[in-house]
Amino acid sequence: MSKAIVSSLYDSDVFRMACRQFDKAADAINLPEAIRDRTKYPRRCLAVSLPVRRTDGSVTVFEGYRVQHNLSTGPSKGGIRFHQSVTLGEVAALAMWMSWKTSLVGLPYGGAKGGVIVDPNQLSQAELEHLSRRYMQEMVSFLGPHTDVPAPDVGTNERIMGWMMDTYSNHVGHLSPAVVTGKPLSLGGSQGRREATGAGVAYLVKKYLEDLKIPINKATVVIQGFGNVGSETALALVGYGAKIIAISDYTGGIHNAKGIDVQKALTYISSQRVLKDFGGGEHITNEDLLELKCTVLAPAALERVITDKNAHKLKCRLLAEAANGPTTNAADKIIEARGDIELIPDVLCNSGGVIVSYFEWLQNLSSFYWGRDEVMEKLYGILDKAKASVDAQKKKFGFSRRLAALTLGIQRVADAKAARGLFP
Ligand code: GLU
Repeated sequence: MSKAIVSSLYDSDVFRMACRQFDKAADAINLPEAIRDRTKYPRRCLAVSLPVRRTDGSVTVFEGYRVQHNLSTGPSKGGIRFHQSVTLGEVAALAMWMSWKTSLVGLPYGGAKGGVIVDPNQLSQAELEHLSRRYMQEMVSFLGPHTDVPAPDVGTNERIMGWMMDTYSNHVGHLSPAVVTGKPLSLGGSQGRREATGAGVAYLVKKYLEDLKIPINKATVVIQGFGNVGSETALALVGYGAKIIAISDYTGGIHNAKGIDVQKALTYISSQRVLKDFGGGEHITNEDLLELKCTVLAPAALERVITDKNAHKLKCRLLAEAANGPTTNAADKIIEARGDIELIPDVLCNSGGVIVSYFEWLQNLSSFYWGRDEVMEKLYGILDKAKASVDAQKKKFGFSRRLAALTLGIQRVADAKAARGLFP
């Protein structure tokens, strides 16, 4: 009999949501008590203060975190989020999901996540660089190419990964590209990494539409969130022939039943930073956008946007979780009971990002670089295999697709922990 004695360190709605998902999956596979809590709770975390000198000469102290959920199956892996609503509990939940995601798709990693409470849009480039470097400096002894390997997430990008890699390399005294992924190509980044998450989402959407016998050129798509993941998903789906009828960012959304010119929206964002006043359709709120009638709905921003308030109002055929944790457990239940929506769960749907991060890490460790076609072919191969295993698990046990994905991910981590034993 095992019983966890834990504090409220991570306690939050989103951490409780991730824990409940775990409990349900652990029950479904009869995970032995002795291994449950070891598999469930994060291994360790670090919280740091990050003083940054501002352009006006003043100093602001930001707070940052890194949570390493599981290190039993390899170095932990996961992005770093810069967002004003980051909390330790959120980072812990995201780290937990990274464990199941890397495990599900068969990568030799554990799960981790980092975060800083900051709105990066409020910082100058110099301030952003100081903050990024300071974060890495505080983390030098906590992570590394064989310990924990960060990557971009909401609010971070290639340039930030480049600064972090440079900071780490200066500390250890030699170039160490494998310490972070999602770097610029000039610093050992991989072909295809920037678009990998969105390309993976779009590829899986295409495959599931094929299963549903819906021609992709007849599919209408709504995307909530137009950052790296949302915009790359949109571009890739347009490439497959789908019509994007609504997009949004935190300033609101645009709806156009005739189709949105995604390339034009991206050009607009590159100069204006936000979608506000883009035109190209009528304005719509983020809430209303989620309830639009469409073939595919892809939440591609933050957690917990599909809730018990709107789950029964969704009018999509396929719900593609491009974001991590976009659907609450209560909403999940409603969607399952409705039975008219196919769901591609986050740990499968957005795994393209970390898969190509793995390729980047391999290329860095071997100093041998691959072409884009090779990267994309290998990415799609892994996604095909993961999709097949999730759907087989779903069929075999009569699980929902989320439960199928989570049980597969959790089982492998639990097996590895059991096989390694418990250090006395
Ligand atoms: N932040 C991404 C995710 O949530 C990518 C992580 C990575 O590439 O390590 O999966």
